[in-house]
Amino acid sequence: MIISMKLHSTREQIDAVCARVNDFGYKIHSIEGEERVVIAVVGVGDVTACLESIEAMPQVERAVRISAPYKFVSREYRKERSVFRINNTDIGGDNFIMMAGPCSVESEKQIMESAEAVASAGATFLRGGAFKPRTSPYDFQGMAEDGLKLLRKAKEATGLGIITEVMSDRDVDLVAEYADILQIGARNMQNFALLKALGKCGRAVMLKRGMSSTVKELLMSAEYVVAHGNPQVILCERGIRTFETATRNTCDIACIPVLNELSHLPVILDPSHATGKRSLVPALSRAGVAIGADGLIVEVHPCPEKAVSDGAQSLDIPQFRKMMADLKPYINLWRASREAEMAASVR
Ligand code: PEP
Ligand code: MN
Repeated sequence: MIISMKLHSTREQIDAVCARVNDFGYKIHSIEGEERVVIAVVGVGDVTACLESIEAMPQVERAVRISAPYKFVSREYRKERSVFRINNTDIGGDNFIMMAGPCSVESEKQIMESAEAVASAGATFLRGGAFKPRTSPYDFQGMAEDGLKLLRKAKEATGLGIITEVMSDRDVDLVAEYADILQIGARNMQNFALLKALGKCGRAVMLKRGMSSTVKELLMSAEYVVAHGNPQVILCERGIRTFETATRNTCDIACIPVLNELSHLPVILDPSHATGKRSLVPALSRAGVAIGADGLIVEVHPCPEKAVSDGAQSLDIPQFRKMMADLKPYINLWRASREAEMAASVR
């Protein structure tokens, strides 16, 4: 339930509303805003009676029930898109986001070359895993903190924001020291201990859709992070598992407008994991721009044939530069349409 107070409500009036909410057995989740205060309420009880009673209070403008099972991430809760400012870049606004870099951080030379190349081609975030979720225990597991240190070095050299995966709740504080955005991989989308820990990490989170997860499950996982205190969640479609074997995963491209309808959170498309083939990445990237994603996360490697992970889906540097150039007219159209949408929503 969301309660909007009238302008300039006093502390006593807000306290009185909170007390009434508590009388009905509900809990206050958060109180936001200065001039116009919005109180978010969670719990189970007689919602109709509680709403009626709260709406009858003189300083209450409106009290509404949120029918979706995910509350804070729903469009019912917030009509406007959420915009997060991360490393001097707005995500979710009228700026199309490009995150790029190798699947794994492998060496200083590899990550520095990747960072310089993707920055000069126009990316604003560098990706690269230091903790890698691998199907086989015998495969490269990532450089761990040494990899994070290299990402920091690359950030210092280029100014790029850093997005990197965290796989365990025990590593959240460590990864948050180095990263601007903590990536939660598809395999951990429903690691609830991890999601709860992310609520307290003080950094933005990008939550990748589990390979067999529905849109609703993705939004419920995002709700965990927000309900535990962190509103800065970005969603990511990276393909789901189907009977189709022509691509590594099946890109559920329609989930992008679906997520935009259901949620105010930014949505990023990962065309690399969605296809598993570098030849398909540019086409799917164009589709992502056209369908209204907020940005892309793309795997780029200075020498994909030598990559320790996901070489087949990684673009090399000239291919990434060409894709960025080819995407320009699409991104210009995207920006015009986003600006028009944002202007209409303030009117
Ligand atoms: C990755 O981004 O390299 C990765 C492991 O992605 P996903 O969790 O989507 O498989
Ligand atoms: Mn990868």
